[in-house]
Amino acid sequence: MEKIILTGDRPTGKLHLGHYVGSLKQRVELQNKGDFKEMYVMIADAQALTDNADNPEKIRENIIEVALDYLSVGLDPSKITIFIQSAVPELTEFTFYYMNLVTLSRLERNPTVKSEINQKGFETSLPMGFLTYPVSQTSDITAFKANIVPVGDDQLPMLEQSREIVRSFNNIYGEVLVEPKAMLSNNEVCKRLPGTDGKAKMSKSIGNCIYLSDSKEEVERKVMSMYTDPNHIKVEDPGNTKDNPVFIYLEAFVTDEHFKKYLPEYQNLNELKTHYEKGGLGDMKVKRFLANVLNTELEPIRQRRKEYEGKIKEVYQILEEGSKKAQSKAAETLKEAKAAMKINYFEDEALINSHIAKYREEA
Ligand code: ATP
Ligand code: MG
Repeated sequence: MEKIILTGDRPTGKLHLGHYVGSLKQRVELQNKGDFKEMYVMIADAQALTDNADNPEKIRENIIEVALDYLSVGLDPSKITIFIQSAVPELTEFTFYYMNLVTLSRLERNPTVKSEINQKGFETSLPMGFLTYPVSQTSDITAFKANIVPVGDDQLPMLEQSREIVRSFNNIYGEVLVEPKAMLSNNEVCKRLPGTDGKAKMSKSIGNCIYLSDSKEEVERKVMSMYTDPNHIKVEDPGNTKDNPVFIYLEAFVTDEHFKKYLPEYQNLNELKTHYEKGGLGDMKVKRFLANVLNTELEPIRQRRKEYEGKIKEVYQILEEGSKKAQSKAAETLKEAKAAMKINYFEDEALINSHIAKYREEA
């Protein structure tokens, strides 16, 4: 099956290490392998408004930040389509029809939505648009007939919801839509990178992030104040590496090359972990190493970002052209879907003729 890939990010802040290992890296690899028919990357501004309706300035300011982050990690607009969600109104139209194919209780059961409602304090005043954002996400995916969606594991319930809507649509109206599959990182810790505070997910809204655009000094500062094992008080104490974000980040980023360059007394992460678990290895030493590893990975990204920061007009052009291209594809699918739903009256000559005949007979 030819791959059509769609994925995206909410312009609620700059992109962080979680986005990078959870999704961006896979996108760039897929893009560079060229093993796909079409690839779309969406800046989900309409979705971001579902929990930021009172703060449009935040969304507006972060569109360019996300676009710069995309270009700086190596997404290439000559190979893929980068677009803005609200510039494709067909997506909203899809959502209106899909809402009929999902129940309120089904949406309320979605575990990601549930925990985000909690996190945002929406328990007593839940914006309708926020509750239905998994439906709108289904539109984003299906409008492009995407079959592969590279995401972090917080998005699995969304993909499940999308598949259900697709099955329901195809059952009722005929086979128009394609069931999407999530594509997760192969590295277990990258599926949901924890925050620098040790909380379960690095997330823009929580503010426990290391951003791709953070300066070298900022990365050092954030790493040095990271949460580690609270019981590892003295250097000689045995330490826990399992729930320790410093080791989790190393698991996500470190290579044996990094050891050779910055910490040659160890060959690899296993040796380092064993020492920490046994006792006798201080947090500061591991943190300094992690800061070096992250800065090595982030430096080329920062460099590329600088280049694009000098070409903002061009970046907006990339977004505008991508949005036009995305719109024309979404319009094609919408036309097909509306025909299947029998709401394409003016294009259906047979319908008009049958009504002419019906009233002629009656007359
Ligand atoms: P917000 O707090 O506004 O929801 P976010 O940090 O969760 O922001 P999103 O824009 O919602 O970021 O997520 C974009 C993509 O990045 C999704 O595919 C999501 O699964 C992935 N992602 C986000 N955070 C992480 C993380 N910590 N680890 C792995 N993947 C992540
Ligand atoms: Mg999110």
